[in-house]
Amino acid sequence: MTNDEVCVTLENPSNKLYIDRTEFHQPSSLLSNSRVSLTGEIILQTKNLGKQYKSRWAVHHLDLEVHRGDVFGFLGPNGAGKSTTIRMLLSLIRPTEGEVFLFGKSLEKEREKALLSIGGIVEKPDFYQYLSARRNLEIVGALNGGVSKTRIAEVLDLVGLASRAADKVKTYSHGMKQRLGIAQALLANPEFVILDEPTSGLDPQGMKEIRDLIRHLASDQNKTVMLSSHLLNEVEMVANRMAVINRGELVTQGDVAALLEGGEKVVTVQGRPAEKVRNVLSASGFISKVVEKGEAFELTMSFEDVPELARALVREGVDVQALVPRRSLEEYFLSITESDVSDGKEVKR
Ligand code: ADP
Repeated sequence: MTNDEVCVTLENPSNKLYIDRTEFHQPSSLLSNSRVSLTGEIILQTKNLGKQYKSRWAVHHLDLEVHRGDVFGFLGPNGAGKSTTIRMLLSLIRPTEGEVFLFGKSLEKEREKALLSIGGIVEKPDFYQYLSARRNLEIVGALNGGVSKTRIAEVLDLVGLASRAADKVKTYSHGMKQRLGIAQALLANPEFVILDEPTSGLDPQGMKEIRDLIRHLASDQNKTVMLSSHLLNEVEMVANRMAVINRGELVTQGDVAALLEGGEKVVTVQGRPAEKVRNVLSASGFISKVVEKGEAFELTMSFEDVPELARALVREGVDVQALVPRRSLEEYFLSITESDVSDGKEVKR
């Protein structure tokens, strides 16, 4: 244990599995699923939060705000600093600088009170494989001062494992183990639940089950949930607010729908012959910027003019191969996810 690690009960070796980045290209017009932003009380605030490992800042100058009732997405590519941040929030490692306030209490000065109403999982939860889910929760409960059988039954029911509660954990699927991890985080009935990459390594069905569970926790159980992810569309489907982090620093933070719809839009066009495409682009009055990237043209323009652009290209006899509108945050996020991370950790592709 290093000097930085004050408690390691939730620590586990990294178990990150990466999902093909083509997920980013799934239709992401699922904003109707976003929950309405609640401008409630701030229950988590970080001020200038930073963590330095040797000379390198894993997290730097981080100011986050999570409001009561939020499903808060904490989005960033691999190595961005999400787990490091969450470890600091759960008081598993000590910040190098800055402060964390939970329910208005300073994590540094009033650690026990600050942590009273939060529960979390970091990376892959660890269980006794040869014991049942129920027994595992009894053991965790006992280590934390005792939890009633009723509460254990409640959390198992909540995460959809009631019918498998007596089965050994080794017979569980990865998704079921993740849900058991969430059950563990819910044992003490915390108001604020922090989940680090809860859908990591799951198949689409497993991911959906976790998303449904998160929605259920927020809307029916009145929990505030913060989840980290490296998948924009996943955050978009479940969160009402989000923060984007890259290389340890905050990129943006706010209402998911507003962040995704705001700013300039980029439309990628690919067609042949390129000369005709150029003619159409220069003749149109609605494109504010054109960047040629190999065979593709990246246009900055309003999405409303995309049909007009399509008509003009076809009118001029362009063989259109692609016409892809992207929202600016999506574009940005793809670009940072595609770029290599310099510390040698695996990069999602
Ligand atoms: P994410 O969860 O977004 O993938 P992490 O928080 O795990 O990112 O890592 C952020 C950066 O901090 C990475 O460069 C990582 O290598 C570094 N890092 C994380 N933990 C340690 C550690 N214990 N010692 C040194 N560097 C670390």
